[in-house]
Amino acid sequence: MNAQQWIAKGDKYIMKTYGRYPLVPVRGEGCRVWDADGKRYLDFLAGIAVNNLGHCHPKVVAALQKQAGELIHCSNYYHIPSQIELAEILCSNSFADRAFFCNSGAEANEAAIKLARKYSREKFGADRYQIITALSSFHGRTMATVSATGQEKVQKFFDPLLHGFVHVPFNDAEALRKTITPATCAIMLEPIQGEGGIVIPDGEYFRQVRRICDENKLLLIFDEVQVGIGRTGKLFAHEHFGVTPDIMTLAKALAGGAPIGTMLAREEVAEFFGPGTHGSTFGGNPLVTAAGVAAMKAILEEGILNHAEEIGEYLLGELEGLKKRFPVITEVRGIGLMIGAELSIPGGDIVKKALERGLLLNVTHDTVLRFVPPLIVGKQEVDEMIGILSGILAEL
Ligand SMILES: *Cc1c(COP(=O)(O)O)cnc(C)c1O
Repeated sequence: MNAQQWIAKGDKYIMKTYGRYPLVPVRGEGCRVWDADGKRYLDFLAGIAVNNLGHCHPKVVAALQKQAGELIHCSNYYHIPSQIELAEILCSNSFADRAFFCNSGAEANEAAIKLARKYSREKFGADRYQIITALSSFHGRTMATVSATGQEKVQKFFDPLLHGFVHVPFNDAEALRKTITPATCAIMLEPIQGEGGIVIPDGEYFRQVRRICDENKLLLIFDEVQVGIGRTGKLFAHEHFGVTPDIMTLAKALAGGAPIGTMLAREEVAEFFGPGTHGSTFGGNPLVTAAGVAAMKAILEEGILNHAEEIGEYLLGELEGLKKRFPVITEVRGIGLMIGAELSIPGGDIVKKALERGLLLNVTHDTVLRFVPPLIVGKQEVDEMIGILSGILAEL
């Protein structure tokens, strides 16, 4: 079937939860994808910061193929070698002592919310359950994570929300301090807001947040679902800020495109999740965790973090150049390959035109062009993207 026919059939059978672009990708390699009509695209979205190793990284493909022929799924009633191996890699490269595996970012945050509540209830009493999160944050689409998310547009229609979340402005430690009550048990933040428009806080902010948590015996939860796994040029984005959380959630890029989520925690907190307290049928199953081990080894062993930092600086510089030529770009900001260009107009049309010209881009928070290409993106591919984008901006 050609792209048009797939789109027509999809319109008939798929729920309309997404405003989809008229594109049917069927194959990918590195920073390129091909659609059902054979047209080639340059991918600067990477499945929303998922394909950090590019499409179909050979080591991830090999791990999936090998594992698929051995054991796809068993159950968390049993011990799963690739899950154990992935947990070891994550713990030995972070502050964490233990991992819990699930299937998505939202589920990882659900796990973090449940662990924080259980820890606080058992340590300090049942009246301590409230979690402070940030305005313009994004934590997922399940009921608890929608309640945690500080954006009305994801919450409307679904009242009543889960009780026990308060939202404060991001990058404002004073606002946070003032919001703490005896009911507060945790603070949950993205180190850099992704869906909120690539918002990078001041260097001091997280040190103050950590201090506030320590003074009030609150848990600090970092949602690194989007910014973790090398996106910012460090394995975890919080490394830029010199603070460590008590709990961290990961998902998107963790398994090279296979669906996975994980919650990591320090032992003192993790021990509150005993047998029967939380679980997932598929969570950390042999197939996805085999992909996760391969993806993590590739990220750590192939110089990808340094490359992401370097090429991110190059891309940022090129975008600064575009900003000088096109006043519609009002600000360019980013760390590593987590980059946003703020526009004075909504970015939807630019994204549509880019697609017509063979470039996959994305706009978030309505007016922020988001550049989250595979971390393996080369200079030539950045130049090609800048060429297409400047052509579009010149025609506005
Ligand atoms: C994408 C995202 C989520 C939700 O992840 P899903 O896998 O879609 O459930 C949560 N938090 C952040 C910061 C995200 O970017």
